[in-house]
Amino acid sequence: MRIPLSAPDVQQEDIDAVAGVLRTPRLSLGPKLEEFEHAIAGYAGAAHAIGVSSGTAGLHLCIRALGIGEGDEVIVPSFAFIAVANVLRYEKAIPVFVDIEPGSLNLDPSRIEAAITNRAKAILLVHTFGCPAELPAILEIARQHHLCVIEDACEAIGAEFDGRKVGGWGDAGVFAFYPNKQITTGEGGAVVTENPRIASMLRALRNQGRTDSNDWFQHSELGYNYRLAEMNCALGISQLKRIDAILSRREEIAGKYNEKLRGIENLRLPALELPRRKLSWFVYVVRLSGALTQIHRDWIMNEMHRRGIGCGRYFAPVHMQPAYRSACGPRADLRVTEFEASRCLALPFFNRLQDEQIAEVCENLGELLPLAGNRASEELSANSAAAFLAGNSSN
Ligand SMILES: *Cc1c(COP(=O)(O)O)cnc(C)c1O
Repeated sequence: MRIPLSAPDVQQEDIDAVAGVLRTPRLSLGPKLEEFEHAIAGYAGAAHAIGVSSGTAGLHLCIRALGIGEGDEVIVPSFAFIAVANVLRYEKAIPVFVDIEPGSLNLDPSRIEAAITNRAKAILLVHTFGCPAELPAILEIARQHHLCVIEDACEAIGAEFDGRKVGGWGDAGVFAFYPNKQITTGEGGAVVTENPRIASMLRALRNQGRTDSNDWFQHSELGYNYRLAEMNCALGISQLKRIDAILSRREEIAGKYNEKLRGIENLRLPALELPRRKLSWFVYVVRLSGALTQIHRDWIMNEMHRRGIGCGRYFAPVHMQPAYRSACGPRADLRVTEFEASRCLALPFFNRLQDEQIAEVCENLGELLPLAGNRASEELSANSAAAFLAGNSSN
């Protein structure tokens, strides 16, 4: 892609930090892990942070540490990254998908209670695209029904609700540092929690179930190797130092996109501001409207790709994935999820995106949108004509 969908922002200081680790004998479970965890906890305003090998690993460990297991139901959005539901299935727990609200694209608090049965154990909420979920309302529902709350803050480091950073509101919160995130460690993640018991459980589980770090062959829990290497931690420390500048740069880019795309017909733009929230921009996602649906979105996406511009369909609903055909729990109506997911399109979005590149993306999108209606249906009818002829000739 000439203009990729995302790109990591690695500077000379990051390279020096990683190279510095390689000149020491400690490549895992060393001082950089401690320093990174300390920095993440401080930044997120949480008592404990536990570095792990990925966001998915962090979510999985939360499920284990909270004692969620076979037959337990967990409320999750289906408009989310597949990992939120996969980690439940790793433990034979059941994802109960609840619909989202179209404004924030987050779990709709007014639909949660109807999905709670006596097997419900937790709510796993997602701060989608870096926009905080309705935390006070969801925490109140959880309190009334004695449910745990896990925050998937993998897309939302630095986002705030009522002036308080996300991640530390529930029993545990998870950040991720894959190269497309706001800051990266290559692969990596971190769990934050206020609860010291959960924190020590997470530390044991990520390290083969060891509770005593002095005894390498004493395993008190069924654990994993979900450790985060020192090189990754050094990169994370270095990146986290720049996070304020990174988040404002991303906000600036979102503003530029909105300015350039404003007024284009059949296009809905993301809100730059929402009440009580400070956003942390992860991706920039526009949505088609009017008569434009999935076939038009897919046609535009393919055309953009052909022109060397990266685009993505953030998100494809989890409950519609082949791997989930027979793995969903009792499921409410997911109409908003299905509607929005079929019309969303993520545009190139990364710290070092240039003004000329933004302009090029917007020009191409502006050109393709009015064509989409006709071209997509032409292609459809050409395809069905071809299918018809193929069917006839085989008779
Ligand atoms: C990135 C992400 C994760 C974790 O991804 P990893 O690739 O495992 O680090 C989890 N949930 C959401 C919503 C994400 O965007």
